[in-house]
Amino acid sequence: MSFGDKVHNVVFVLGPPGSGKGTQCSKIQSNLGFIHLSAGDLLRAERQRKGSEFGELIETHIRNGSIVPVEITCKLLENAMLASGDSVKGFLIDGFPRNQDNLDGWQREMSDKVKVHFVLYLSAAIEVCVQRCLNRGQGRTDDNEESIQKRIVTYNEQTFPIIKHYEKLDMVREINGEKSSDEVYAEVERAFKNAGFRHHA
Ligand code: UDP
Ligand code: MG
Repeated sequence: MSFGDKVHNVVFVLGPPGSGKGTQCSKIQSNLGFIHLSAGDLLRAERQRKGSEFGELIETHIRNGSIVPVEITCKLLENAMLASGDSVKGFLIDGFPRNQDNLDGWQREMSDKVKVHFVLYLSAAIEVCVQRCLNRGQGRTDDNEESIQKRIVTYNEQTFPIIKHYEKLDMVREINGEKSSDEVYAEVERAFKNAGFRHHA
């Protein structure tokens, strides 16, 4: 399998844990026809896969809120993109790139295969994010006080600088993620329209 000559459209979706990335991405997928790829979900699936040599390593990183080496995450993303076929409108890459290692690895592997249009940045106060993670009941091994605190430190120290990097390139579209999911989505859709992406027929 290969990407052939097609350059795929990509939008990165970043923001603190619990800022609503997954929720907004599923709305974008149903309304605008982008394919939602959550790096966290792909890592959790790989962790569960029988015979995976990375299961334990992934679980350790997830519990500690630290970042899995990019070679693993980028491969999972690339495989998921390949599996989606050639006719897709584009990909929402949710929760990636989370640190400089992620960004460097992505550039190395993917820069000639994709066009990153912008970074959708869902911002929200940390207290709001913590409450949402504690209340969402998805049974995640990292939705406990201790892991959440670690994820927030990682976000502030490693992910926020990546958002700043894209801000310097004028590629960040920041949306306040604290409102209701429908209110947030209205603004999200405006950001996509401004970038030339419209409702699918
Ligand atoms: N993770 C990672 N690399 C990624 C995405 C996720 O290492 O590109 C790991 C990391 O340990 C993170 C966890 O998976 O804390 C959960 O990520 P997810 O995006 O699902 O959750 P969020 O913290 O945004 O709610
Ligand atoms: Mg998520």
